[in-house]
Formats: sequence, structure tokens, C-alpha cells
Amino acid sequence: MLEVSNITAFYGETQALFSISLSVREGEVLALLGANGAGKTTVLRSILGLTRARQGDIRFQQKSIAARPTHEIAGAGIGWVPDDRRLCPTLTVRQNLMLGEKRTSFRAWSLGEVTEIFSPLKYLMARDAETLSGGEMQMVAIGRALLGSPGLVLFDEPSQGLAPKIVDDVLGVIRRLKAAGIASIVVEQNADIALSVADHVVVLSHGQVAWKGEATVLRDDPALKRQLLGGLQ
Ligand code: ATP
Repeated sequence: MLEVSNITAFYGETQALFSISLSVREGEVLALLGANGAGKTTVLRSILGLTRARQGDIRFQQKSIAARPTHEIAGAGIGWVPDDRRLCPTLTVRQNLMLGEKRTSFRAWSLGEVTEIFSPLKYLMARDAETLSGGEMQMVAIGRALLGSPGLVLFDEPSQGLAPKIVDDVLGVIRRLKAAGIASIVVEQNADIALSVADHVVVLSHGQVAWKGEATVLRDDPALKRQLLGGLQ
């Protein structure tokens, strides 16, 4: 589904990513873990074409997307749930959700399915997004991504600032996407949350891949998890 090969990325003269490679198969969940500033968000931004990879290649369904504009990358079927949600504050919940609607070659999700997954949204459709709680905003951000008919969804810190019940709902959505053959990359500060849904893991450190492997290896080896992730558990 996605193949990131030896990408580097810079902010001005500052190099943020050093030859990062990772891949995600159909229906697979990849956890992208690492300390603050390790480069996790920059990897997502490079996939989306928001921070261009200076070297290397990014292929989605075998086609290079490294030089394509962001709206075409989204149109190809890559959805994004940003860490700060990025809702339009003075538009209603319905308007925010419908902004994401588009058809791709992947499964289309209806507004009815989104409100079935996140039932509180049914009663919030006419509310301005700026009046929502953090958890409700996250539901809209995820719903908006689903309405874009993605084949791959990039979740940036999906559990950040959310009550445990909402975190469970978010993990439930990731499992449901997986069952529908839709892949996810989950960037998380909370390693245990990400490991609970992940098939594979990439750990970044200082813009480089420090470890990659199956999630079960880290789940079953607390010493290795501590060594790689330190306080992130
Ligand atoms: P966090 O979990 O804190 O968001 P992260 O692993 O997602 O961290 P990035 O946000 O990708 O890390 O940052 C990687 C590096 O790039 C850091 O050194 C950061 O300071 C730098 N960086 C990120 N955004 C910018 C920017 N807009 N301008 C300059 N440097 C940036």
C-alpha cells in the first residue's frame, strides 16, 4: 500500500529525517513511536507532501507520490487525522464533516456510517465546531477522514488529551478500518495505546529508524520496550 524509501527531510537547513524507510500493507496498522522531536510528525507530513522529502521516494499503490501536490495525495486515498484536529471553528459539525467528502478507488463511507460509529455526532450536526469538547473534535476529525474514502489513514497522536472511553472508541475505529482492509499509521506518545492495535512498529530516534519489527516482539519484551521507548509507556 505504502512504501517510504530512504527519505530525508529538512526544515530550512535543519535536517529532521535521515534516510527513513518503512512500509505498510493493506489493512495493516503501523505504530510510529519515539520521543518528542524524533521526527514522527515530519514522516506523516512528508507522506502528505506538506514537508517535501528532499531525497528518497514515497510510493502509494506502486505509484510515486513524492512530488505530487497534497490534494492529489489525499485524492489518491491517504487520509489525515492531525494532532490538533484542524477543524474550521465557525463551520458546523456537518459542514466540517462534508468538507472531507470525496470518492477514491477505496471504500466510500457515508455520513450515516460515521454517526453510527460516533453516535454523539448525530446530535451535534448543527453545532459550530469551536463549541465542541476535545473528544467530540477528534470524532469529527476522524469522521472527516473516513468521508474522504481513504485506503490509508495517518493518525497523529490520536489519544492526546482524550478521556479513556474516547481513546477506546478511537482504537475501535482503527480496528474497524483494519477489518475493512484499510491501513493506518498511528503516531503515539503513549506506546501502550499504539501497541494495543499495531501489527508492526517503527521506532524513531533523532530522525532515524532506531528499531523496526513486529508489535508482538515489543509487547512480549518489556526490557526491549523500556530500552527503546524509555518513558513513553
Ligand atoms: P512530537 O511528538 O513532539 O510532535 P515528533 O517526533 O513528531 O515530535 P517532529 O515534529 O517531526 O517530531 O520534529 C522533528 C524535528 O523537526 C524536531 O527537531 C523539530 O524541532 C523540528 N521541526 C518540526 N517542525 C519544524 C518547523 N516547522 N520548523 C523547524 N523545525 C521543525
